Amino acid sequence: MTTAKPTYIQEDLDGCGPRRHRVYAMPATKMDHDYWSTVTDVACPREACQGIIRWAENGYVPGYRICDGCGAHFIAAGSAQAPTLIQARAAGQRTDLTRQIMASGKARRSAALAG
Ligand SMILES: [Zn+2]
Repeated sequence: MTTAKPTYIQEDLDGCGPRRHRVYAMPATKMDHDYWSTVTDVACPREACQGIIRWAENGYVPGYRICDGCGAHFIAAGSAQAPTLIQARAAGQRTDLTRQIMASGKARRSAALAG
């Protein structure tokens, strides 16, 4: 689990005007261009979250990710040398896809506990 402290940006992620969003720096990759491995199926950067960041582009936009633990929505950004996850939605806002991803995370954690 990482406990990266977020920075903040003003960004219009949804066409509803600029709002303040948290930005989490993710570990850099040695790959030149492909940094998806640093922002997909990795530990959630939010403090005290045990979740995994899951691919969730279906129905959203390229780079969209949802945490299977806290349910926060993110957009992958940055570069291979400095990948980031911009938190697009608060963890408390649920969509059908969020619920589906969180259910799979709950099943994954239960299976891990069962050994
Ligand atoms: Zn999380």
